[in-house]
Formats: sequence, structure tokens, C-alpha cells
Amino acid sequence: MEIGADRGRCIGAGMCVLTAPDVFDQDDADGLVLMSTTTPAPEQEPAVREAAQMCPAGAIILRAGPRPTPPPPTPPAPRKEIR
Ligand code: SF4
Repeated sequence: MEIGADRGRCIGAGMCVLTAPDVFDQDDADGLVLMSTTTPAPEQEPAVREAAQMCPAGAIILRAGPRPTPPPPTPPAPRKEIR
């Protein structure tokens, strides 16, 4: 997962900081959102999703990470000859 924050939309409500404090912070100068990372660890993702849902300004942007590579196709089983 990749995340972004639109500081132009942020109103400094701080819900993201309360919900995912390992990822979000507020700027001491203007109270707007800061992020410690744009690629949260898998164990941080549930809190980040909740923070995005809670944000009253819709300022937190979630982007799906790269899709996992699918496994190679399984070769067909050998055919048995019936005599
Ligand atoms: S919850 Fe939204 S509006 Fe509030 S500080 Fe975080 S990004 Fe800004």
C-alpha cells in the first residue's frame, strides 16, 4: 500500500494522528498532517485505512501496492493411454 496526504485539504482535525500515530503526525507550525512514511508496513495498514475513513476532509489518499505476481500455471497431468 502507498499513501499520500493532501495538505491543501487537511483541516488539522487530528483524527489520523489519534488513529494511526505511527504513521501520521501534525505539523507544530500549522497543525496540518505530516506522514512518517508513504509505504506503511502491513501491520500498520488497518489503522491507516481507518484513519482515511475517519478523516473529515478526505485528505488521506490510499493507493494499492503492486499486485503480487501470480504463480506459474500448473502443467497438465500426463494422459493415461487406454488399451
Ligand atoms: S484527519 Fe484529515 S483533516 Fe485531520 S489532520 Fe488528519 S489529514 Fe488532516
